[in-house]
Order: sequence, then C-alpha cells, then structure tokens
Amino acid sequence: MSRPVSYNLIQKPLEKDISVASLPDGHQGEGFFATSLDSVIGLARKNSIWPLPFATSCCGIEFMATMGSHYDLARFGSERVGFSPRQCDLLMVMGTIAKKMGPVVRQVYLQMAEPRWVIAVGACASSGGIFDTYSVLQGIDQVVPVDVYVPGCPPRPEAIIDGVLRIQDLVGNESLRRRNSEHYKALLNSYGIQ
Ligand code: SF4
Repeated sequence: MSRPVSYNLIQKPLEKDISVASLPDGHQGEGFFATSLDSVIGLARKNSIWPLPFATSCCGIEFMATMGSHYDLARFGSERVGFSPRQCDLLMVMGTIAKKMGPVVRQVYLQMAEPRWVIAVGACASSGGIFDTYSVLQGIDQVVPVDVYVPGCPPRPEAIIDGVLRIQDLVGNESLRRRNSEHYKALLNSYGIQ
C-alpha cells in the first residue's frame, strides 16, 4: 500500500512573504530620493549584521534554536554567522564565562574591526548568573563594553531576537562619527583599549 503524500497545492504569492526595509527619512519626488549618508549606511548596516556566536554553555543551545527554521534569524539579515572575528561585527556572548576565558573574549573583541557591537545573552554573560563563585566572571562588561543585555536563564529565542532588534535600532541610528567621538574613546580607554 502506498503512503499518502500531500502537496502544498495552494501557493502563497511570494511578495506576501517578503518584507521590505522601510525607507529612511528623506525627500522624494518623481524619480529621485534624497537622504543623509548616515541614514543609508545605517540602513545597510542594520540589515546585514554578521554575528559571531561565542557560545560556552546552555544559552548557546537557545541560539541554535534561534538560527533554526522556526525562529530563523535570517529574517533579520543576520543569517551569515561567522567564526572569524575579522569579518564579523556583532559579538554575541552566550553562556558562563570563566575568569580564565575572560582574556579570550577580550581578544576576540579586539580582533573585530570597527564598527562592532556586543550582546551579552543570558544571565551568565550579563552578570555571572547563578554562578557567584571565585572562578566565574561576573559579567562580560568587566572585560569588554556591552551594548545590549538579554535577560533570562536561558533567554528564549524570542528574547535573543529581541536583543538583535535592539542592536539593529542602535546600528541604524548611530552616527557615522560616533566611533571617532571623545565619549567613545573614553569608553574604550576605560577598558584599556586604545
Ligand atoms: S544564563 Fe542560565 S542557561 Fe544561560 S548559560 Fe547561564 S546557566 Fe546556562
């Protein structure tokens, strides 16, 4: 006896599955659109973030679910996960970071080119979590500056996606000159980074 096979005979129109990034503020008329360079660069950057997953424990499993087809981080332009710091611009630290691992996190951060952003995913990366012990770093912001903290132990994939969306807000609205500002230099100096 043959197995029943079902086909998806009702095809949805493709355009209903595609969301188009909204235009930045600007002026438009017939055949032209004018806006600022900051807005265009911000729009491009925020929709093409390359994450570097630095996963050491259970929160990393949630990230795997986030990359899977159900949650699908690719919908936000971040499907290109990279393990080369020099090519990535978003460091996602997920899991318990032992003090021995702190210098490694910092080295990976230093190897990333500007502009770069950092998310601390989960309680351990944000604050040491339940591991208030001599061997665990009590938050990665002791070794690198952090842009977004995602709470939870572990955070669900929705929370990780929300963290990426908050990063997208930062990236899209960041001035191109922020990285040259005195404030930013002072921030890096406070971490001993020139
Ligand atoms: S925050 Fe919780 S789930 Fe995430 S690495 Fe720490 S103990 Fe594991």
